Amino acid sequence: MNVADSLRVSTALEQMGYEPVGAPETADVIVLNTCVVRQSAEDKAYGRLSSIRPLKDANPGLVINLMGCLVGVKNNPILRQRFPYVDVFSPPSDPAPLISHLQQKHHQLMQAGETAERHALMDEEMSLPGYAHAQGVTAFLPVVLGCSHACTYCVIPYRRGVEESRPFDQVVAEAESMVAAGVREITLLGQIVDRFGKDLPPGQDLPALLRRISRISGLSRIRFLTSHPNWMTDELLDTVAEIEQVCPHIEVPVQAGDDTVLQNMRRGYTRDDYRQLVARIRRRIPGVSIATDIIVGFPGETDEQFQQTYDLLEELRLDVAHLARYSPRPNTVATRQMMDDVSAAEKMHRFRLLEQQQERIVGEIHAGYLGRVVPVLFEEKHKDRWRGRTETNKLVFVETNADLRGQLLPVHITWTGPWSMLGELARAGDQ
Ligand code: SAH
Repeated sequence: MNVADSLRVSTALEQMGYEPVGAPETADVIVLNTCVVRQSAEDKAYGRLSSIRPLKDANPGLVINLMGCLVGVKNNPILRQRFPYVDVFSPPSDPAPLISHLQQKHHQLMQAGETAERHALMDEEMSLPGYAHAQGVTAFLPVVLGCSHACTYCVIPYRRGVEESRPFDQVVAEAESMVAAGVREITLLGQIVDRFGKDLPPGQDLPALLRRISRISGLSRIRFLTSHPNWMTDELLDTVAEIEQVCPHIEVPVQAGDDTVLQNMRRGYTRDDYRQLVARIRRRIPGVSIATDIIVGFPGETDEQFQQTYDLLEELRLDVAHLARYSPRPNTVATRQMMDDVSAAEKMHRFRLLEQQQERIVGEIHAGYLGRVVPVLFEEKHKDRWRGRTETNKLVFVETNADLRGQLLPVHITWTGPWSMLGELARAGDQ
């Protein structure tokens, strides 16, 4: 989501005549887009903010824009006090505050008699771009903004605001321009993407959007993330299975494997609900890969409760588990009402146990690809290897001199590991 938001800002800046530079020292404008989902991310944002300060001291004309979840959707006077050298504060996804600041600044310069070339490009009536800029072979397209679920550990609803689906036709139009600009794979984004359309007219839901976007000619693949277990309808799963362009890959976080912990997280389902969901996904989408998110060390999580998570992952054998150690976030219910009582060392211990478990499981799943021929969409060249992904979102590298960018080609898998695979372009007739 932040990658998409950052690109949206850079498109707006390019429309004003700005161009990217290689180093912050040479920039006229610096945009720092921030994430605060865990304390470590927030600390990183503060670190970058202080490292920028000397640049502002050396060049008072430099415009610094702090953007994203560190700022949030509400006015934040403490942040303004603490970072007086920041010129503009913007909520997530919104380039408007920066653009109007720059327009005002240019206006003042023009009145002062300055006529640099870029000033001529300034258009007071400039409309803000959506997300429809070229992003390479693959692109992210936010379709649900904000979140209203309020999991007890999560700060996102406080910082990104209430859930709002973007208009159906606008999303389709942006997808069309992405494809016209060379994009071959679009990932639809939302904090709870399977709730897309709940606030739109009937019939404008995620299955309908997937069907509509799949008709855009030239688009090879569609993905979507992240889904909440409670909104994964059979219709959605059947749509994934039926439409060729929609990849058989589901990102659906479980967060914990113990019912009491799940209840304390206010996730709205039980361990057994999730097991049944995974069975249903696998039944309806043959060959599907499934990714999940896990938080270890949630307040009050005992060894036995953690073991429930471990056992659930052992049983389900999912393709990916994004692991996180619980981090108390300001204003959340968990921070206000529960003790962060699992020690840092114990969180790390549980994290490592799941990491090792998952490395083993995924290594075994990937070994099943050995010798098979699978379609791979190629994205970029990395040293002398082309990097692409299977429809199940597995990373594949192929060594070749040919230009494979944007091509969807059958690949014969020759080596597999837990994080990636190697292969060779398959010749016609290979199985
Ligand atoms: N709506 C998205 C959430 C994105 S945040 C979703 O449901 O996937 C990505 C992940 O960060 C979450 O799934 C969760 O596993 C993790 N996370 C969120 N808040 C956290 C916290 N306070 N501490 C540790 N991990 C957290």
